[in-house]
Amino acid sequence: MFEHSNDAILILDKDTACIIKANAPALQILGYSLSFLQKSNFSDFIISENLEEWNSFLLLTSPHTCSIFESEILNKSQEFIHIEIKAIYVNPPNNKEHYLLIIKSIEPKNKDICKLQQRLQFYETILMQMPTEFAVLNAKWQYLFINHNSIKDDIFREWMIGKTDYDFCRYRNKPYTLAENRHKQYEEVARTKKGKEWVDEHLTKEGNKKYVLRKLYPYFEDGELSMNFGFGIDITKMIEVEQEQELIIKAMTQQNEELTQFAYITTHDLKEPLRNISSFTNLLQRRYKAQFSEEAHEFMDFIVGNAKRMNDLLIDLKSYVTIDKSNFHKESLDANVIVENAIANLHWLVVEKNVSIVYDQLPNIKGYSTYLIQLFQNLISNAIKFCNTTPSIKIKCTEKSKYYLFEVVDNGIGILPEFQDRIFKIFNRLDKQNYEGTGMGLAICKKMVQLHGGSISVYSDGNNGSTFSFEIEK
Ligand code: ADP
Repeated sequence: MFEHSNDAILILDKDTACIIKANAPALQILGYSLSFLQKSNFSDFIISENLEEWNSFLLLTSPHTCSIFESEILNKSQEFIHIEIKAIYVNPPNNKEHYLLIIKSIEPKNKDICKLQQRLQFYETILMQMPTEFAVLNAKWQYLFINHNSIKDDIFREWMIGKTDYDFCRYRNKPYTLAENRHKQYEEVARTKKGKEWVDEHLTKEGNKKYVLRKLYPYFEDGELSMNFGFGIDITKMIEVEQEQELIIKAMTQQNEELTQFAYITTHDLKEPLRNISSFTNLLQRRYKAQFSEEAHEFMDFIVGNAKRMNDLLIDLKSYVTIDKSNFHKESLDANVIVENAIANLHWLVVEKNVSIVYDQLPNIKGYSTYLIQLFQNLISNAIKFCNTTPSIKIKCTEKSKYYLFEVVDNGIGILPEFQDRIFKIFNRLDKQNYEGTGMGLAICKKMVQLHGGSISVYSDGNNGSTFSFEIEK
């Protein structure tokens, strides 16, 4: 049976566990000759992690029992073989006690392999078909995996496995600087042990510029760099859009500057002829008073009145076009002081109309003081102007995470919801008959609030006063 069995069988001496006999299949599994094995102890072949367990297993093997032990052994070719050992205690009459070991090599079951392979296939397909470039490199910067998006040519992609960026350059006839630059990044990742990202810029076959955002993450096993995962995202479109936007912004800024310059010069230059119109009309009225009829005097008053109105419009238009942060810098300001200054500028109006203005303790804010004073001044003066009773104004502030929200509440005539958007545009006035003005005040307020990173709006039901709210960024 021993000689003819298909199973590997070894006979061990019970006391020393030395191998006494081994049949042909046993010699095949272990790979050594019988004479070599006869000088060995079977535990020499058991892998070190299982050795202690094996020795105690053997000690526990008693007569009439048949125990099974699973382990890996190392054969002559230095291969690890997973085996199952059936140990039988043999005590032949008038003979020494032995152990009989029946050894079977057990490979992982086919089903498990299939499942594993399926899983592997699943993940590989995902990585292969990812819409971004993806590659895995070992610690020597040789490619272990490259997906379809990185290299479309299947043959070349397979050829690249085990190769480096230098091989890539050689094969594709690209300058070695490309590989050198990448290796500089790789070395930094290996040195800092941290992932990094950078943008590669190169020319396509068609001669177009291509930008790829590269991200490289190191992967460590037992503290040693074992692999690197590299991603590449084509950001050419994004960069092109950014470049286009930059050009548009540049052109628009230039146009805006030209327009501002034009508005500034026009408002400035128009004032001179206007001044002449009113002073010469005044002169006419004074010198030729007697020769003019009453109606002619009325006409001349009309000319002077309109010239003054046009002058007011030009003054406001000029202050609108000259609102610009480049001449000022943001500073830390006490909003209480800002409001006090705005009220002081309106002192006589406040006294004359017996206005009540109340406000809570206001916060410290960051901004341009000249503009903030004017902003409050415009809103307060409107609240006084558009009021048919004794004006009563409340100023409130609420702190939000990114900004301060200010509210100016009045008890004036209110603004119907359908007109609320219009009033922030230049030269827009709702009641031209009963209230004087240029229609520029709120347009100026809007621009000043925008300079502070906020927006302005109004709430009113059209009857019970208005609430103007605006944000000042922190
Ligand atoms: P102006 O005060 O010179 O007319 P503004 O731009 O300051 O110009 O205001 C535009 C219009 O919005 C005003 O003509 C008025 O009709 C309306 N308005 C502004 N503030 C108030 C307010 N507090 N109450 C009611 N209506 C207002």
